[in-house]
Amino acid sequence: MNILLLGSGGREHALAWKLSQSPLLSHLYIAPGNAGTAAIGTNLHLAVNDFEGIKKTVLDHGIGVVIVGPEDPLVHGIVDFFAADEQLRDIPVIGPNREAAQLEGSKDFSKQFMMRHSIPTARYKSFTSETLADGIAFLQSMKAPYVLKADGLAAGKGVLILHDPDEAASELEQMLGGKFGAAGNTVVIEEFLSGIECSVFVMTDGTHYVLLPEAKDYKRIGEGDQGLNTGGMGAVSPVSFVDESFRQKIITRVIEPTINGLKEEGIVYKGFIFFGLINVNNDPYVIEYNARMGDPETEAVMLRLKSDLVDLLQGIIDENLDTKKVEFDPRYAVTVMLVAGGYPGAYEKGKVMSGFERIKDSYLFHAGTKLAEGNVVTNGGRVIAISSYGATKDEACRQSLENAKLIDFEGKYYRRDIGFDL
Ligand code: ATP
Repeated sequence: MNILLLGSGGREHALAWKLSQSPLLSHLYIAPGNAGTAAIGTNLHLAVNDFEGIKKTVLDHGIGVVIVGPEDPLVHGIVDFFAADEQLRDIPVIGPNREAAQLEGSKDFSKQFMMRHSIPTARYKSFTSETLADGIAFLQSMKAPYVLKADGLAAGKGVLILHDPDEAASELEQMLGGKFGAAGNTVVIEEFLSGIECSVFVMTDGTHYVLLPEAKDYKRIGEGDQGLNTGGMGAVSPVSFVDESFRQKIITRVIEPTINGLKEEGIVYKGFIFFGLINVNNDPYVIEYNARMGDPETEAVMLRLKSDLVDLLQGIIDENLDTKKVEFDPRYAVTVMLVAGGYPGAYEKGKVMSGFERIKDSYLFHAGTKLAEGNVVTNGGRVIAISSYGATKDEACRQSLENAKLIDFEGKYYRRDIGFDL
């Protein structure tokens, strides 16, 4: 089967790496890809939201399935675009349609969905500019910290956690006044939950699902989880507190009600679901849904997935995921992300990278890189993910850190504490 993978991050390189191990794969195309995916398949100059361009590519290259890495094309309706086109109708796209992608694309939608299906999540209320006064009164009725969330996609910046009630009221006004554009037309205010977070992933064919290895990611730029939020600075799998009893709670309270709820509501969902969970006194609560795999979690999770990923995708296409067996590698996998100096603020691109030949016993997943005049150069804030196995968590952490020293580029930064808190 020929596969087209959309995206250009470390997540897509890790997916490409895993897909390329399958005897079921004929040829892999990645659009637009990066310097890492270029070594596995054919990179195409094509933007992930260029649906007409994607259509032409799919038809020209005899693509049998399209895998969508990032959320943007899903929220913009790539699945609906294929379904509505006579020539594309029979070509499966792995990912939810526009309606189902609202689980990620609209926080108000996902909260309402969770309420309808009694899925544990923080208590909340939603407000618009017409109900600003009610929103301020609601804030006054709550205890700090205050959690304010822009309803729509805001590149990970639309969530504010504030301690001062006046600041919270002022931010609410600014959000409803357009601070995050249309994404903030509705704002969700919710109860603050205290606990450790983890990410759980499933693949679903709309009725059945398979559970993938769970992971914990590290969002803040600084060690000890300090400083600004980033796209993710590292990941660890498995997560020590997700034992058998906690996993069963996740399955019965969160995963099954979600999949059954979507089906009951007639919402078609075929693809990956990412459950962003928080462990509150040993009970799982949903912080967010994502309609795709996480980044950098995928760079750890793919190391631990022993089963053939193309075969699992075939299970989604054939709607028989219940006949597929998922096997995990029992070892730990730890990912450390190397980022550009200045990230997540302003940073420079185009720095020549070196040291690749010195890497031993780790996997490099390119994120923001590209090839330029025979060199690999930096091309984004998050530059490259270094993932390693270990018989113990600390061994996997140390292995990734050893290799993090060996890749060089001007301004390189990484966290040295990934995984050591668990
Ligand atoms: P992401 O960039 O992870 O996709 P997002 O913009 O979709 O983020 P959320 O995942 O809903 O937003 O929230 C971002 C982060 O804020 C969470 O990972 C969590 O650390 C924190 N957070 C969100 N809601 C709560 C809450 N109710 N209680 C405590 N912390 C929260």
